[in-house]
Parts: sequence; C-alpha cells; structure tokens
Amino acid sequence: MSVLQTLQERSNNTCELCASTNGLKQYTIPPSLNENVANDVLVCNTCLDQIESKTDMDPNHWRSLNDSMWSEHVAVQIMAWRMLQRLRNEGWPQDLLDMMYLDDDALALARATGEHEDEANKIIHRDANGVILESGDSVVLIKDLKVKGSSMVAKQGTAVRNIRLDHENAEYIEGKVDGQQIVIITQYVKKS
Ligand SMILES: [Zn+2]
Repeated sequence: MSVLQTLQERSNNTCELCASTNGLKQYTIPPSLNENVANDVLVCNTCLDQIESKTDMDPNHWRSLNDSMWSEHVAVQIMAWRMLQRLRNEGWPQDLLDMMYLDDDALALARATGEHEDEANKIIHRDANGVILESGDSVVLIKDLKVKGSSMVAKQGTAVRNIRLDHENAEYIEGKVDGQQIVIITQYVKKS
C-alpha cells in the first residue's frame, strides 16, 4: 500500500487536522524530505494553503485542532502543535498547547520549523516586494550594485542563484555574481 493509501485509510478520507473532505493531499512535514507514513499527514487544501502561508491564517478554521491534537499519529500531533504555536496569541491555542503532550523526539521535530519562536526575534529576510527569501532561492537584482572593495558592478537584471541568508541581519543575503561571493542588500532584489 502506498503512503497516500495508508493515510487515506487511517483517516477515513478526511483531513487529519480539520476533518474536511475537500481537496485532500498528502503532506510531508518539513524538514523531512522522505515520504513515509511517520512523516506524512493527509490535509485538505484549506489547511495546506495556510500551512504553506499561501493565504492568511484564519483562526476559526483551526478550532478543530481541539480534536486533532489528540490524534494517535505523531505526524498529526506535530502539525497540530505547530499550528497552535502560530496561533498562540489568540489565547485558546495556548490553552490547548498547555494540555498537549509530545514526547522528546516529537517535540524536537515539532520545534524544527520555529513556529514557537516570537516573530520579533526571528530574522526574516524579505525582498523588495516583501516576499520571504529562503536559503537556496534565486533572486534578480533590481538595480546596479557596486561591490564593496572592488571595481565590480553587479548589473540590474543579474540573476543570483542559490542565495545564502545572513543569520545575524535580515537586510543581507549572499550570493555569487561572476564567480564571486558578494553581500547583497535584500531591498535591491526580487525573488525569481
Ligand atoms: Zn483541513
């Protein structure tokens, strides 16, 4: 039986987070890359869009975590924990978190994506349009940049692949232009 079939069977073809039956998809919880029943949950498209931040969080949609957090499946518990953390300022999610129990391994995995950290303390890199940049993304320069300490000018329109984030400073990323690793200011790039 495939992972998807196993998920469908164990959930009786419902979203494991909100019990909807619409647009169900298999979701491998990050940071894992391997499909595996232990890492996967079956989610509906409404849940998935909010998990992946394609749409804003709708706290009322997540009231059902009140039930799904008690799932016997660890991957479901981890996703419930992460979404409750994102919503904890609403009050009721914090109450549920206080009741929730994850064992040490599950908790370590649950924390891996940083949902429990305060937004204010989290360094988030954004491009000129406010789009979040992640390590490994490609960007395009939106203006000519003089490279510090050299005569080189990185031209507007230059594509920079596989960027690295400066973990101390949200204004800076690094990337290679003409074979040279340079520091680039995030407000001068656009994610491509
Ligand atoms: Zn759902």
